[in-house]
Amino acid sequence: MVSAKKIQMVDLKGQYEKIKTEVDEGIQNVINSTAFINGPSVKEFQASFEKYLNAKHVIPCANGTDALQIAMMALGLKAGDEVITASFTYVATAEVIGLLGLTPVLVDVYPDTFDIDIEAIERNITPKTKAIVPVHLFGQCADMERIMALAKKHNLFVIEDVAQAIGADYTFKDGTVKKAGTIGHVGCTSFFPSKNLGCYGDGGAIYTNDDNLATQLKMIAHHGQSVQYVHDVLGVNSRLDTIQAVVLNAKLKHLDEYAAARNKVADHYDKAFANNPKLKTPVRAKFSNHVFHQYTLQLVNVDRAKLREQLAERGIPAMIYYPIPLHMQKAYTSDRYKQGDFPVTEKLCASVLSLPMHTELDEETLSFITKTVLELI
Ligand SMILES: *Cc1c(COP(=O)(O)O)cnc(C)c1O
Repeated sequence: MVSAKKIQMVDLKGQYEKIKTEVDEGIQNVINSTAFINGPSVKEFQASFEKYLNAKHVIPCANGTDALQIAMMALGLKAGDEVITASFTYVATAEVIGLLGLTPVLVDVYPDTFDIDIEAIERNITPKTKAIVPVHLFGQCADMERIMALAKKHNLFVIEDVAQAIGADYTFKDGTVKKAGTIGHVGCTSFFPSKNLGCYGDGGAIYTNDDNLATQLKMIAHHGQSVQYVHDVLGVNSRLDTIQAVVLNAKLKHLDEYAAARNKVADHYDKAFANNPKLKTPVRAKFSNHVFHQYTLQLVNVDRAKLREQLAERGIPAMIYYPIPLHMQKAYTSDRYKQGDFPVTEKLCASVLSLPMHTELDEETLSFITKTVLELI
């Protein structure tokens, strides 16, 4: 049987229909005012997002990759400094490290949560290590309390990659709750359309609670400019468009609802796949809630390529995030690593499968997906 409805990995159209009037009018207003750059909606979004995150400073920028780059520049990282990050992540995390002439030091991840292995971080700290970049992969936080303790002990910066975990809550042992990205020295996020808070083009933001760092971040994002036409440091040009800020203002109000809708989808999948020896459902960490940017299964003794093909024939898309570990990518080959060095990452790359995950999935579609997966494995 093929699904009657077109099933998508992400349904941005259905979500748009529900906020159409606000978005359409807002975008038209920007065009009428011609305030395309730094219009009032950008400031409005910045202030609302600071409040939502309970962060002292949000610096909007052009995309999540820029956010990471600007953060590393603002922290004063210099060529030759080592930056530790996960081998199982999207390429952007390691890309900016390399672009700035820093040395990416990749480490393995935990097999249950997919987050960076903290013992492996510690084993890889050298006198050249300056920063750790934990990635809150697929929508739940890495263990920030332990990472911050380790960073403090070794005097390292912590740059959180929050591109996949906007709005996730981390709970400390004493019960304190903080938003992902507001715990480390700086947090970096993306508003790429398919992200949990996505705009209709590219967008990103950097968060920090440190006033001096915020000044530095703002300056670097704007050509290193302190006052107009006065350039104190080497910077970049990275801005959030006013039109994108309009979309983000409309969607931020619904972000918690969106996370709840994603969790409902995850619960449906979890229940359907529970106790099936061929499917390992996502493990929820006890210190973080999950905002399910992706719902990622680990397949056990299942032919993944065949399953994907058969699902596609029945109108069900499924994606592999990520098929090749960073240390096995041509652009990141290094004498440091060889195949087999990161067994968990390598196993995950060979066995993960992400199912459709978005805010518009109904029970009927979900039942069709789960029934079909169970029939095919
Ligand atoms: C999407 C993503 C980025 C990059 O964001 P862009 O806005 O596409 O530049 C960085 N890190 C992770 C983990 C991501 O998922």
